[in-house]
Amino acid sequence: MNLPRVMNPPRVKMNLRMVKRAAYLAAFLCLAAPAQANWVRRVTDGIMGTRITVELWSDDKAKADQAIDALLEEMRHIDDSMSTYKPTSEVSQVNAKAADGPMRISKELFDLLTTAKEYSVITDGAFDITYASVGYMYDFRKHIRPDEAQIDKALPAVDYRHVLLDAKNQTVQFSQKGVRIDLGGIAKGYSVDRGIDVLKSFGITRAYVSAGGDSRIIGDRFGKPWIVGIRDPRKGEGEVISRIPLVDAAISTSGDYERFFEENGVRYHHIIDPHTGHSASKVRSATVIGPYATRTDGLSKTAFVLGPEKAMEIYNRIDDIDAIIVKLDGTVIYSKGIQPAHGHVPAKPSP
Ligand code: ADP
Ligand code: MG
Repeated sequence: MNLPRVMNPPRVKMNLRMVKRAAYLAAFLCLAAPAQANWVRRVTDGIMGTRITVELWSDDKAKADQAIDALLEEMRHIDDSMSTYKPTSEVSQVNAKAADGPMRISKELFDLLTTAKEYSVITDGAFDITYASVGYMYDFRKHIRPDEAQIDKALPAVDYRHVLLDAKNQTVQFSQKGVRIDLGGIAKGYSVDRGIDVLKSFGITRAYVSAGGDSRIIGDRFGKPWIVGIRDPRKGEGEVISRIPLVDAAISTSGDYERFFEENGVRYHHIIDPHTGHSASKVRSATVIGPYATRTDGLSKTAFVLGPEKAMEIYNRIDDIDAIIVKLDGTVIYSKGIQPAHGHVPAKPSP
């Protein structure tokens, strides 16, 4: 290296300027890449009965931890207010009282009930939070299911039109007795969106947040996309049918393998057909990609109820949505926006 020698005044002058410039450069580099800059990842179990994963980039580990603490706090609040497993939750209160008359509820719950109703309309009634009027009689962990007589009796209460929302007074009312709601099909996606809002409020611009099968990503991984694997419904967790590169997107997968039991060769699982009160078994899994996790969560159950073709028609009609469906025979179909490239060998059907 040619170091300038300190010999005569002009050279010394130049050197000082160089030293100054070097000092500026060092300061700039410090700003651009502080010592603690890193990816921070935290996995937390037990909120909404599922696993929460957060991964984010922050130039300050303490700030990253604070942001994740605040996100988890927000998710716990959503769980406390929306879980039907908690008798004190706002949703449990609604289930106990809303058939008696209009009941004033929080703005947050009112808005989510409004969104849920929109998804019922979009999906021809496949997504319906009143599925719980029958659904509450299933316990997949304990292998308990209602018999036909119980289903027949409870089924008339399943219809999203029984949930009367009054925006002016911010009230909800059930039009008849026996109606129950459950937000299990949308609350995880909603909590992911709220979690992302919390991270953004801390200035985080690159992050992955997931609650069970619902995830959302903001930003990229410094020029590279995030890669999210879609699990093969009949294989172990690590086995994927596809890897999807994503930036600024949400992705939700519903699968018949998540919570189920089998009896006499029939698989009883946690997505209920609102028209029959039985498990909706027209596909093995459905993955929906879109801008918000509330939306992708709300739409990912549709294929189970309507079947792959009808559901794909709906997904293709919605501009900001893409979908990947694993049919009952194990073959995989894609929405218009993400058709595999020509020559792509589709995943082999699993047994
Ligand atoms: P996860 O709970 O792992 O996110 P899903 O997104 O597939 O799984 O949602 C399944 C949940 O959706 C069920 O456990 C139940 O709470 C709820 N659910 C079941 N059937 C319906 C339905 N037809 N409409 C709306 N929600 C439903
Ligand atoms: Mg979900």
